[in-house]
Amino acid sequence: MKSYRKELLFNTASRREFINITPQVSQCIKESGINEGFVLCNAMHITASVFINDDESGLHSDFETWLEKLAPEKPYSQYRHNGAEDNADAHLKRTIMGREVVVAITNSELDLGPWEQIFYGEFDGKRKKRVLVKIIGE
Ligand code: ZN
Repeated sequence: MKSYRKELLFNTASRREFINITPQVSQCIKESGINEGFVLCNAMHITASVFINDDESGLHSDFETWLEKLAPEKPYSQYRHNGAEDNADAHLKRTIMGREVVVAITNSELDLGPWEQIFYGEFDGKRKKRVLVKIIGE
């Protein structure tokens, strides 16, 4: 069995952002030389997500509106976590959107459904963040 590990780096311009990382994960599979196996992709921070969904701007706007209804950023004082920090909403949003995805690798490619794309979801950006890509297989 072969294994491969890489960290993808992010530093978003805004507090919240969705970034399609499917091309980067595909590149990792190429670099790994693994033809059959699994790729695990997870945010290494508790205020960011990795999730799979459609790459459609209307949907991304709907996610933003929905998440802001469930866990509004402001007022900061509504959260017990805020004090030294102001990112309680980001922790909650991350929990809803998930920590990681696992995707099958078949014939050296991501074995995704027709509209599935892998996203990095940033909820407390403007600083350095990492995503782990771990691949195992042969
Ligand atoms: Zn925090």
